[in-house]
Amino acid sequence: CGIVGYIGDRQATEFLMDGLAKLEYRGYDSAGIAVYHDDKITVQKKVGRLVNLQKVVEEHPNVGTVGIGHTRWATHGGPSDMNSHPHTDEKGDFAVVHNGIIENYLELKEELIGKGYHFKSETDTEVVAHLCADMYDGDFASTVRHVLLRLRGSFSLVFMCRFEPDKIICSKRDNPLIIGLGNGENYIASDIPAILSYTRRTYILNDEEMAIVQKDKIWVTDYEGIPISKKVFEVNWDA
Ligand code: GLU
Repeated sequence: CGIVGYIGDRQATEFLMDGLAKLEYRGYDSAGIAVYHDDKITVQKKVGRLVNLQKVVEEHPNVGTVGIGHTRWATHGGPSDMNSHPHTDEKGDFAVVHNGIIENYLELKEELIGKGYHFKSETDTEVVAHLCADMYDGDFASTVRHVLLRLRGSFSLVFMCRFEPDKIICSKRDNPLIIGLGNGENYIASDIPAILSYTRRTYILNDEEMAIVQKDKIWVTDYEGIPISKKVFEVNWDA
């Protein structure tokens, strides 16, 4: 339902929690964040209001300067801690947040279970995390590109990878996703209100564009890897 991401030099959790709060008006049944630090992606997620997650984060601060967050509006699998996003593969090498519906998730899930992957949730989203692990070719961006080509349905998706923690990758189809441009830091969000108090300079992603977001650089390509040049969209309204 709501998506946020941060990469820069500041603590990611601060923006993630604030951004999710700004998207609360959209409604949700659970919330979660994933932050990279010290060779590990740590996921914290809780069913219910954002304050439930806030408590967990206060008790166990999720340190790190790269992270993604999500408020969920369940479509596949009821609201629960396990079904909340972010979702990860079995080893915790990839973390994914998703808005929308992966229409061919059952077929992908059966294929992955057939290969020995174990699922922890009832969501359509979890297949995306296992697919990343299964299709990993040593390059985060090319792996995500190949994963995206296998997905039917609608999505805003944001990916993190333990092996390349200097980037967040995101893409969308029939769901909104924007990138907020900062100085030495960049933001990702499903809706502009999440980033308005941080920056007004944005890239609005079009369907089937994929962005590789680093703290001081953003690359946008199509699903073939062909570069796309984006125009900065300056937001001139207030939330
Ligand atoms: N289909 C996904 C789920 O049920 C994403 C829902 C959403 O857009 O929040 O977990």
